Amino acid sequence: MTSTAMRLPSTGRLADARDRPLRDLRISVTDRCNFRCVYCMPKSVFGRDYAFLDRDELLSFEEITRIARVAAAHGVEKLRLTGGEPLLRRGLEGLIAQLAELRTPDGRPLEIALTTNGSALAMKAASLKAAGLTRVTVSLDSLDDELFQAMNDVRFPVGRVLDGIQAAHDAGLGPVKVNMVVKRGLNDHEILPMAEHFRGTPFTLRFIEYMDVGTSNGWELGEVVPSAEIVERIGERMPLAAVGATAPGETAARWRYVDGGGEIGVISSVTQAFCGSCNRARISTEGRLFTCLFASEGHDLRALLRGGIDDDGLADAMGAIWGARDDRYSEVRATLTPELRAARPKVEMSYIGG
Ligand code: SAM
Ligand code: SF4
Ligand code: SF4
Repeated sequence: MTSTAMRLPSTGRLADARDRPLRDLRISVTDRCNFRCVYCMPKSVFGRDYAFLDRDELLSFEEITRIARVAAAHGVEKLRLTGGEPLLRRGLEGLIAQLAELRTPDGRPLEIALTTNGSALAMKAASLKAAGLTRVTVSLDSLDDELFQAMNDVRFPVGRVLDGIQAAHDAGLGPVKVNMVVKRGLNDHEILPMAEHFRGTPFTLRFIEYMDVGTSNGWELGEVVPSAEIVERIGERMPLAAVGATAPGETAARWRYVDGGGEIGVISSVTQAFCGSCNRARISTEGRLFTCLFASEGHDLRALLRGGIDDDGLADAMGAIWGARDDRYSEVRATLTPELRAARPKVEMSYIGG
């Protein structure tokens, strides 16, 4: 992998086998979480005796920053910290401060975003902002306290997440996006109350189709509420008009309330795959590079880092991995039988991040 044939110019943009650039790097900073969302980390799998990674298995902040620096030299402009629950990683502000020092080849700082369940946000929003975080996305699947507590399965109250969302806004971490995963029969009756609650606020609500990530959530196609249905249900009450995409590779289709009440987004990972413009790579908590959310295996960058590779060698390795990338799982999902889908090993969302 480190042959000179693979060597990239230090500011070389990468293109994969389908000519997609690498722009967005999602970094999982912990595999642990204080929630047990029923569709992500069900207690039946992630119970008391579940073996999470040991501390020395995690990438250190310095190792993460090295990977991000090399990625930035090759086209990455946006970093997203995720997990597990990223705010559980001790001293996360220190990592953010290191990442905030990085620059693109033309001298711009990277955008540093964070996806969180919001449980610690009220406490941490100000220090995250001071460290250099650009903005946050908060996951929230229901406003109904009873249902929310049942979905996170640790009886965490919805009010504290709403406080966190407000604190993030007040700290200047906006525009804050709120992500709702919709699972039919579980929380789809919360689509309208959520839309009504966030309409006319500074917060952009985005609906995410429930996906077949990992192997522990027992996913079935019938549990997916297609984005088209979500838009229709909301539009019947509060008329919507489509808005054009803002950035290449943007995952959410945007809709605005015609009366000026702001916008919503829908992320149609199942019914309208966006693999053709997918420019995202993911680094797992212990340093494996995944070229797709649905990949079976990652490439072990930690072994390279701890084996003493220099930055050019690391760039070569990452370039070779990205150059060979041919993933487009969401586009081929429909052609797989349930048996084939189930037989395919996939990593858990809590391990690789969203
Ligand atoms: N713990 C943080 C949080 O919940 O925001 C970050 C990690 S979590 C794995 C990232 C996102 O993935 C969350 O918005 C979560 O709702 C979403 N997610 C988890 N499992 C999912 C699934 N099966 N389908 C769609 N989204 C899922
Ligand atoms: Fe934790 Fe986020 Fe998964 Fe919920 S979705 S269990 S908060 S990692
Ligand atoms: Fe990207 Fe893979 Fe998702 Fe397609 S399925 S959009 S390639 S992460």
